Order: sequence, then structure tokens, then C-alpha cells
Amino acid sequence: MSTDLKTLAEEANERLADASAQEVLAWARETFGDELVVTASMADGALPHLAAEAAPGVDVLFLDTGYHFAETIGTRDAVAATLPINLINATPKQTVEEQDAEYGKDLFAREPDKCCALRKVEPLNRVLSGYKAWVTGVRREEAPTRANTQVIEYDAKRDMVKLNPIAPWTQDDLDSYITDNGVLVNLLQYDGYPSIGCAPCTQRVAPGEDPRSGRWSGQGKTECGLHT
Ligand code: SF4
Repeated sequence: MSTDLKTLAEEANERLADASAQEVLAWARETFGDELVVTASMADGALPHLAAEAAPGVDVLFLDTGYHFAETIGTRDAVAATLPINLINATPKQTVEEQDAEYGKDLFAREPDKCCALRKVEPLNRVLSGYKAWVTGVRREEAPTRANTQVIEYDAKRDMVKLNPIAPWTQDDLDSYITDNGVLVNLLQYDGYPSIGCAPCTQRVAPGEDPRSGRWSGQGKTECGLHT
């Protein structure tokens, strides 16, 4: 464990408790320089937009699992083309075909935790090992598992600082930021998908339903393991 990074995270979390997302990202850029990376699911471009303003040229990581909707890939490409960011497209060690050959077809339907470990968690950890701090778009109101998310945390598993600058944002806050700043939005959001992951593991949800209820629906799974 790095006591320095742990202490740094705890002190900054206290000092920046009431800071805006922009101020948190500006502090991160100043503190970590190029050793800062922002993760983006491309459900919308809000986090890359915020990061691009605070840290032009910042690395933005997309986990390209091989199972994404075409709309998500399109959002990724549009965000990369229109913002001053450096997109890092991380792919799993195996293609979908190679995984099928080793583990059998459609591993996601039989062992979704294993599939997420191979196609999301391993590529994430591999890329993060080159940085000191990472930024996520996790918001507290998204799920009970995210309710205690701190804006700045020490990620003991990876010995990194983990920043969640929009943790306190409500859906209204996010929608306002998107509207006010002309932020790109994944078109699936207008088609019944308020939370967007891999195509085989994401279902439409009815208006008013828990936005994340369409993720791994019926599989007893609510998180892919990136934040747990
Ligand atoms: Fe596999 Fe589904 Fe996880 Fe994507 S979300 S990595 S398809 S189990």
C-alpha cells in the first residue's frame, strides 16, 4: 500500500468536499499530470467533456469488449473526433471468437462474471497500471452499491487514487450539463436504454423503472467488477 497516495486521497477528499466536478478534475490534472486517465462508457460524452476542459489532451479510456452496440462505438468515435482528448481503446487479450473457442460460445450467458473479468476487468487493470489516478463517471444515485461513493478515494486494490467527480450529481444535474454544453449522447438513451453496457447484457427498461435494471437482467448481477 502506498501511504502517500492514501493520505493524499483522504486529505483531498476532505478539502474538496464541496468543490465542483470541474474543480476536482483541475486538481487532479495539477496533481497527477499525464499520470491521470479518465474512463468513459460512452453512454454520453459528459465526463470526457468535463475532463477535456480541465485537462486538454487527457487520456480517455474506453473498454472495447467486442460486444458493444454500434451506437456506443459511434458515440466513442464522435467524442474522440470532437473533443481535445487522447482516446485509448483497450481490447481484451482474446477476440470474441478466440474466447468462444476456449470457453464455449456465449460465455456471458453462462458465466457473466468470468466474461466481465476477461473482457473488462483485465483490460482495465492492464491500462491503469501505467497511471497514478483514474477518473470514473460513477454517480451515487445510480445504484445502492454506489451510494457511498466518495469524490476522491484511495483505490487500495490498484494502489491508485480514484476520482468520482460527478458522484453527487443527480440525473437532472447530468441532463442539465449535457443540454447546457451540447454534449454528445448515445442515441440508445432515447430508445429505452438509460444505462448502457454490452449488447447481450443490456435490455430496454420501461419509463420509471430502475435505470440499471436492464443490466444483466435476470442474472443476479448488478456490477461488472470495475468498481467493486
Ligand atoms: Fe461479457 Fe456481458 Fe460482461 Fe460484456 S457485460 S463483458 S458481454 S458478461
